[in-house]
Amino acid sequence: MQGVPFDRPVRFVYFDLDDTLLDHHYAEHRALEALHADPDQPFGGHGFEAVHVAYRAINPLIWKAYAAGDLDKIGAKVGRFRRLLEELSLPTGVDAQLADRYLDHYSRFWRPVPGALDAFHAIAERWPVGILTNGFVEIQQAKLRQYPDLSERSAAVVISEEVGVLKPHPDLFAEAARRAGTAPEHILYVGDSMHSDVEGGLGAGWQVAWFSASEHDHPDVRSFSDWNQLVSQIPG
Ligand SMILES: [Mg+2]
Repeated sequence: MQGVPFDRPVRFVYFDLDDTLLDHHYAEHRALEALHADPDQPFGGHGFEAVHVAYRAINPLIWKAYAAGDLDKIGAKVGRFRRLLEELSLPTGVDAQLADRYLDHYSRFWRPVPGALDAFHAIAERWPVGILTNGFVEIQQAKLRQYPDLSERSAAVVISEEVGVLKPHPDLFAEAARRAGTAPEHILYVGDSMHSDVEGGLGAGWQVAWFSASEHDHPDVRSFSDWNQLVSQIPG
């Protein structure tokens, strides 16, 4: 681990879901591959890599617009495929169909991040735990149904869409702290995103463990790549 050590006792541990406990990027990659391999796919002569690169560029912009309230849920879910088709100079009429098919494929490829679920259970033996995730409620709930231990062990499951704002919005962290019944300074948040999780958590007065493949010697946050190390570092 690198960065600043945890300096306050921890009374509750919240986990991010996507790319922290479950491997969203893998599922996204495989779902786009499957979409591209469909016999009647609409991508014409564009190879998978071109589609993948374009999608990975568009998706964060769509989420940013959704978080800002500039897009509604359907606008985000379908709009990302409309933008993708536009970006590839293709007809956009099949955007809604693509969005549905993408989610069907996506749900077939969820898998845990290596080491994360064992660490989640080890931490849940010692502290009350919860899940705090951005995302569409029906999709995040489907993930939790596929990995029922996560919600069964959790004292609180907070999905941004149910609250009406997305991480890093302070209202979402405040609502999560309220549901945990724990003062912000005694909550630890474990997440992978600098913007949503690290900035959001620190802004809310929480301690943060930043899960990152390359550990960072950051002045404000503890960074880790090895789940076993995290478990032994949390102050009780
Ligand atoms: Mg994440």
